[in-house]
Amino acid sequence: MDDVQGVLVRSVLFRGVPTALVSEVSISSEARLLNARERLLTSGTQNDKLHVVLSGALTVSAVGDRAAASRVGPGECVGELSVLEDRVVTSDVVADESTVVLSIEREQMWSLVEASPELARNLLRILAGRVNRRDVVPGQSLRLRRYFERIATVDPLTGLHNRRWLDDTFQRQMERAQRSGQPAALLMIDIDRFKTINDHFGHLTGDAVLGRVAQLLMSGVRPQDLLARYGGEEFSVMLPSVDLPTALAVAERLRRAVEVNSRDIDSQDVPPTTVSIGAARMEPGDRLEDLINRADVALSKAKARGRNQTVS
Ligand code: GH3
Ligand code: MG
Ligand code: MG
Repeated sequence: MDDVQGVLVRSVLFRGVPTALVSEVSISSEARLLNARERLLTSGTQNDKLHVVLSGALTVSAVGDRAAASRVGPGECVGELSVLEDRVVTSDVVADESTVVLSIEREQMWSLVEASPELARNLLRILAGRVNRRDVVPGQSLRLRRYFERIATVDPLTGLHNRRWLDDTFQRQMERAQRSGQPAALLMIDIDRFKTINDHFGHLTGDAVLGRVAQLLMSGVRPQDLLARYGGEEFSVMLPSVDLPTALAVAERLRRAVEVNSRDIDSQDVPPTTVSIGAARMEPGDRLEDLINRADVALSKAKARGRNQTVS
């Protein structure tokens, strides 16, 4: 095996993971040579390692289903479900030819997952692929589910990015703008009288309205704008390279889009939804919370002036 690390950095599991971590894995894990037709995993047995193919190939056959056999080549891995979910293997895995695998222990996998969000994301992608291919449902392990909840950056109700993502991404965008001397602006958007929709039509209708407003905002922003659900019935948009007049124009466009199009889904009885928007421009030395606070003050003015309007 000439270059373990070279194969790992290109592998589906380690793509984008910091090289220091990758080299730690290549040093501390065991590389194992399998002869042609040698068995690596047996269905129904326990498995405590994730195996990455470094060279050669493996055949993975789902139990009782010859047609479902698939070939796993260099950079791909096997055993991830049984390792992370702590349950028996569901396929037989046999070397096709002379094959080298790197075997990573369960506890090391967990510390890697905790240390690298990139690796966690790669793993999630691999697990999702397994679900499609073999009808295996991951997520039985509480530890795995908790972990993915913790790193998740998407809000399941609206499909928008969530507050965790916002805190991280908006902050970085502001720092970038401050370094390059570019302007930036922030919008805080709040659905008007949303509580009465819940109260009169129930929370499910409320949820549908939230989803619809999210969709309208998503189609209203430009690709470079950052949009997230701030929480509850509030949304935030960060507009890079934009001065206040332009931010107000964008806000007006979004406000209008909601006012005009929210009728589409609302059942006959539900009144059309409107939003109020507060806009603020980034000032030198601003932290994210300063900018959010100023946009919030503007939003309160928009509410006080009668709602369904934009204020800076
Ligand atoms: P205002 O015009 O002043 O913003 O009035 P409002 O009723 O929109 O504001 P208020 O803050 O009084 O109520 C917000 C409501 O949003 C209360 C809360 O129950 C509801 N809400 C927050 N998150 C969700 C959600 O995910 N689904 C549903 N259905 N309702 C939610
Ligand atoms: Mg609110
Ligand atoms: Mg509201």
